[in-house]
Amino acid sequence: MNGLLHGKRGLVMGVANDHSIAWGIAKTLAAHGASLAFTYQGDALGKRVKPLAASVGSDLVLPCDVEDLATVDAAFARLGEVWGSLDFLVHAIAFSDKSELKGRYADTTRENFVRTMVISCFSFTEIAKRAAALMPAGGSIVTLTYGGSTRVMPNYNVMGVAKAALEASVRYLAVDYGPRGIRVNAVSAGPVRTLAGAGIADARLMFNYQKRHAPLRRTVSIEEVGGAALYLLSDLSTGTTGEVHFVDSGYNIISMPHPEALKT
Ligand code: NAD
Repeated sequence: MNGLLHGKRGLVMGVANDHSIAWGIAKTLAAHGASLAFTYQGDALGKRVKPLAASVGSDLVLPCDVEDLATVDAAFARLGEVWGSLDFLVHAIAFSDKSELKGRYADTTRENFVRTMVISCFSFTEIAKRAAALMPAGGSIVTLTYGGSTRVMPNYNVMGVAKAALEASVRYLAVDYGPRGIRVNAVSAGPVRTLAGAGIADARLMFNYQKRHAPLRRTVSIEEVGGAALYLLSDLSTGTTGEVHFVDSGYNIISMPHPEALKT
């Protein structure tokens, strides 16, 4: 099945290191023939992202901090110059102050609420607009979400609210861009040990709980998330838009843990 993305060009945003979900996605897309560009947030991460990009044959690696719209515009201007057009986009960006990824959602501050929403939710809308402008022949856009959007996950707090808004954005953008042949979907990944994941209080507990109680009795790899992104970004899914697709070992369907799992 190799070659599903042969001849297609896409931008991957959100690689911090080789544990990043975006990196699992990038490796999978590259293995299926995609030409990739990457963005990175700040010089320190740039030093990590550049060699990773090189390992999948990419030298189009651009700085971009979504809090600074000028850097977003500069990245897309450069992509336009070099490639002219784009077939797909991966948005795997989120941030909230660690001090509010614990305790009660009720105590969220206005400042962190706004910052979390801008980086983790509205950046998707701003970036999708710029990507769509480079997709005259249609395309596919994917963002990353988590089940804390619809069900309460301890400590996830404001990030759950941001993911709910992100998933709603996916549906609205799917309608806005559908007539142009641009599809917009989300992958809802189960817990993965990443830099962002480690910022959530009791992350290890959450990870182990899902491992024990998910129908598949395990967590997911970044390559498995990559497989779902490959489907959504390739022509395998041309009839699908506005979806939130779970890659979580089935955890989202569980109401109560299985009694057998509770005994272990
Ligand atoms: P990660 O730390 O590897 O990636 C997060 C990325 O967001 C980093 O590359 C970081 O540079 C980027 N970012 C943060 N603020 C930014 C800004 N202002 N401008 C540009 N980039 C910025 O962690 P990850 O877990 O791979 O996260 C990727 C996505 O997957 C996020 O949307 C996250 O919410 C989502 N997700 C993670 C999990 C998990 O358990 N780790 C589960 C489901 C969904």
